[in-house]
Amino acid sequence: MQTEENILNLYDSSLPELENIVQSWGQPAYRARQIYRQIYVNLADDPQAMTDLALTLREHLTTETRIGTLEVVRVQSADAGLTRKALFRLPGGAVVETVLMVYPDRATVCVSTQAGCAMGCDFCATGKLGLLRNLSPGEIVEQVLWAAREVKHLVPEASDSHPKLPQKLSNVVFMGMGEPFANYDRWWQAVERLHDPRGFNLGARNLTVSTVGLVPGILRLAEEKLPINLAISLHTAADTLRSEMMPVNRRYPIAVLMEATQTYIEKTNRRVSFEYVLLEGRNDSPEQATDLAKLVEGMLCHINLIPWNPVPGMPLSRSNRQRISTFQRILQDRGVACTVRVERGVEIAAACGQLAGVPVSSP
Ligand code: SAH
Ligand code: SF4
Repeated sequence: MQTEENILNLYDSSLPELENIVQSWGQPAYRARQIYRQIYVNLADDPQAMTDLALTLREHLTTETRIGTLEVVRVQSADAGLTRKALFRLPGGAVVETVLMVYPDRATVCVSTQAGCAMGCDFCATGKLGLLRNLSPGEIVEQVLWAAREVKHLVPEASDSHPKLPQKLSNVVFMGMGEPFANYDRWWQAVERLHDPRGFNLGARNLTVSTVGLVPGILRLAEEKLPINLAISLHTAADTLRSEMMPVNRRYPIAVLMEATQTYIEKTNRRVSFEYVLLEGRNDSPEQATDLAKLVEGMLCHINLIPWNPVPGMPLSRSNRQRISTFQRILQDRGVACTVRVERGVEIAAACGQLAGVPVSSP
């Protein structure tokens, strides 16, 4: 007998897999394409709404599959509804968070690839949890579909005050909870599903992954056919400090990381982003900016400065505006492309590094 836990989640199936399933029910394979379109183009989450399918097929879908397994625990919003954070419960009980950010020219969703994270970076809320479990491809994809439905419904409501809002979800960043390269195979299946032109059809350029610096993952991504964007969390140009902030540095120190990054750039001819979280008195001095500039000089790259977002109980503080702009100027004066990330959703703990699946107490 099928239980709720082991019933097939359609978001976990590729189109060829879906074709096999449909055929096992005695239906022609092309029916799978219709289902696939319903799910990824029409964003249907109920077989009964798939009115182009025969009733018997809809019945098979209803009894033998499910469309999604995430349970919405709570949705919080900020920035006049243009930032939304969802807390989802996964089968088994762990929770993950997903953040939608709507801008005039794009709608971006930041998705989680793991519940918790094993990497233990000392400035990150997710890192404090440890790894609870990996997400399946379907669980990763479903977060994106949630956001796509939100955008569809959000835009007409907000369009009076914001006449130029995007009509569709346009970008996916794998920068939520977890380390994508520590769950590479499942994460990559999700990438392929979201890209598939027969379905959700997101361009590779609209997909961005952020890694803590797992070198095997960087080298593997360099070999993939799909040219998605790569961001690497660097946070300092000094090995001692990096090992203190990010235990992964003991395994893949900066020289090894930079060599892999250079290989990636040569193989793909693509610019990488380095993320740099700014922590007051720790990695934000003018000398540290100069060291960073020297480290990346001549590389096809861009630096993304991220003012640290507070995490309760962490004895750290974000750099002030003055220090951030000095840091940025030093990099720019040395010819390094550099921007400061505009933050969204700090008050609902939806900003980078604040995701931990815990409620935020209201003021
Ligand atoms: N595990 C991946 C992707 C998720 S974290 C990685 O580490 O790259 C996404 C980004 O948020 C990373 O650059 C991470 O270093 C940064 N980050 C973590 N905690 C943060 C915080 N409290 N404030 C701002 N950025 C933070
Ligand atoms: Fe994990 Fe990224 Fe947080 Fe580090 S910064 S603990 S890798 S989620």
